[in-house]
Amino acid sequence: MGIRVCKFGGSSVADAGQLRKVRAIVEADPDRRFVVPSAPGKRSSDDEKITDLLYRAHAAVHPGETRYDARGETLDALFDRIAERFTKIVADLGLDFDLGPALAEVHDRIRDGAGADYAASRGEYLSGLVIARLLDRPFVDPAEMIRFDATGRFQPEETQKRVAERLGREGSGVVPGFYGAMPDGTIKTFSRGGSDVSGAIVARGVQASVYENWTDVPGILMTDPRIVDSPRTIEELTYRELRELAYMGATVLHDEAIFPVREAGIPVEIRNTNDPDAPGTRISRHGQEAAPRHLVTGIAGRKDFTILALEKTLMNAEIGYGRRLLSVLERRGISWEHMPSGIDTLSVVVKSDSVGDQLEDLVQEIQRECEPDAIEVNPGIALIATVGRGMSHTPGTAARLFGALARDGINIRMIDQGSSELNIIVGVENEDFERTVRAIYAAFADGP
Ligand code: ASP
Repeated sequence: MGIRVCKFGGSSVADAGQLRKVRAIVEADPDRRFVVPSAPGKRSSDDEKITDLLYRAHAAVHPGETRYDARGETLDALFDRIAERFTKIVADLGLDFDLGPALAEVHDRIRDGAGADYAASRGEYLSGLVIARLLDRPFVDPAEMIRFDATGRFQPEETQKRVAERLGREGSGVVPGFYGAMPDGTIKTFSRGGSDVSGAIVARGVQASVYENWTDVPGILMTDPRIVDSPRTIEELTYRELRELAYMGATVLHDEAIFPVREAGIPVEIRNTNDPDAPGTRISRHGQEAAPRHLVTGIAGRKDFTILALEKTLMNAEIGYGRRLLSVLERRGISWEHMPSGIDTLSVVVKSDSVGDQLEDLVQEIQRECEPDAIEVNPGIALIATVGRGMSHTPGTAARLFGALARDGINIRMIDQGSSELNIIVGVENEDFERTVRAIYAAFADGP
């Protein structure tokens, strides 16, 4: 019970066949009251997204103004392709709906100099008009509710108020994703992929019980499918686990994209439009079950870190040692990622590209400021995070992880366990990265 807000991604609304699936999904549950669609995406790998075509149409009128080149096609040629896609969708769905006037208005406003954000947003706008017809629900323009200030900064409070008021009155509806407006009515978009943000804003505004994010994947995978063949789908994870995995490079829902619902404690479900009965992945504040079914939720990692390892006898008795080290980094504008320490040792892990060509100077400065007995520099380190709220209080987890690496002959250069016991991070040579991910996956994928 409660309101469900359903956001559908570009591939879910790419053609009439996909839109029929959308209708079946929405109609299967009366709680699915609000729908937030993207613009039609690619139908096949060599197809073009409507949003990309719209940016190109804008660039054809303002050459050189945006990074989207016009590749020699004129506004009219590009617009014909956009109009054809929408007209075909309406015809294939058998809708008695003339999209002609709306298309003509979009064309003319782009021709007459409307901004890139206006142009790009029209994919969602037109998609929303069609889907509102298909579902026979009110079309609600986010330009009336989702607010940016005159400098283009998103205004969360005013937006929530307007969304709650307007959608509360409607009770159900279709709200296009990706854009809102500034006070003078100028259209402003979120960054690319921003319909996820719109969906979260709508969910928050109507105090939804669930934010459903419908896409073309089974959910969030336990690890990178480019490294491990068909990894298991994560059934359930917490916002904090998601944050850890995303920070370590897993490409899942963007932090910004779920901020409004995370704040309000609204769970997110990632579902597959092409397999609507599959449970997908559920993200929530605490997790549904008291004890998660699996010890490890996910494994993610990144290459190219540098470890600076300092050693000094009686370091532990020297007050201010860590501060001196960190202040060197601060002066140089380098942010540190991890800081494992021992009794007389202290390491900092930084991203290699944040040090760039300062490495030699940095080491000299550390030597001056901290006077270590030895300082070892290890560039080319990959970090792999094994994340799982179930790992804390479970003896033997670390042994299982390190045992797996030992069996594969992988040399561990660094270990860091977050104080939350939510993750164990290991540092290995860049070249051992993939092997390490596979070994950890194999150790935890099956079984608890
Ligand atoms: N259509 C927009 C994009 O391609 C926004 C979205 O789909 O989320 O970036």
